[in-house]
Amino acid sequence: MYRKTLLEKYFFLFVFLIFFVSIPKILYGYFYDIVYLETSGYYSLLRGFTIVFIAGTFYVTSLSPNSLHPYGYSKYAKMGQFLVALGIGIISLLLIGHSIIGKYSYHKVPFVDISGYIIVLLSAMFFLLLVHSMKKIQFPLQEDKKYNKSNNIREEVALTIITLIGLIGIEHGYFFIDIVLSIFFFSFLVKEILSLIWESSIFLSDRFSLDEKQICNLVNSIEGASECHNVRAHGTDSDLYVDLHVRMDPKIKIIQTKPIVEQIESSLKASYSSVRDVTVHIEPKKKKGDFI
Ligand SMILES: [Zn+2]
Repeated sequence: MYRKTLLEKYFFLFVFLIFFVSIPKILYGYFYDIVYLETSGYYSLLRGFTIVFIAGTFYVTSLSPNSLHPYGYSKYAKMGQFLVALGIGIISLLLIGHSIIGKYSYHKVPFVDISGYIIVLLSAMFFLLLVHSMKKIQFPLQEDKKYNKSNNIREEVALTIITLIGLIGIEHGYFFIDIVLSIFFFSFLVKEILSLIWESSIFLSDRFSLDEKQICNLVNSIEGASECHNVRAHGTDSDLYVDLHVRMDPKIKIIQTKPIVEQIESSLKASYSSVRDVTVHIEPKKKKGDFI
């Protein structure tokens, strides 16, 4: 429960940081007619949520014992991610559209003052703080791959530099920069929304599966087990629950099947680090002439 208390402790900090990396940029962009800053604010909001959802899903799946039904809870986490991505997606697209229409129908001119630079720099600082505080959760390797700290830092630094250059340009009267950067951030935003929705729907519909042939080759190579079939997997690419059918010699007593089943479980877990649980259904081997 160590991770649980850590996440509870940091949860409000995370939420606080998510809003601080995004809301000031959104408001500044909105009131000072800088559409790209507003767009980048929504993008930061979404990125912040993504990071916290990775932590949340991990926390949920690390719940034990099994009676707490961690898999069921992780569905809720993914459902949350789906709804947040969809919600931010719809709201941001509507508001950005509204800003663009307002801006071009009233010929509003973007305006930059020192507070714009301060907001962008503070937002980057808060984002890096969010990335840094995730370190305290200590992910296992699987989750670590999904949450790549150095990639996040690199991306944030690059985006901040681009944002600052944009502000300098607009301050010097190059208003076209707002259009160019709006398209730039907008494409990032849409890509992130779509990939989050796609990822959570794959999870929610249990579409992720393992290669049945590979699994069965492994299972059939275990002595006593043969004719592996009906391999099913549900979960995520880092947290899979597998069930499969296996035929055994009808002469084998139930008590003798236990070590075989255990071996199937352990070899699958050893070969696929994402496999968390294996359920084996045992069936008697078909005799020649059987029609079943
Ligand atoms: Zn079967």
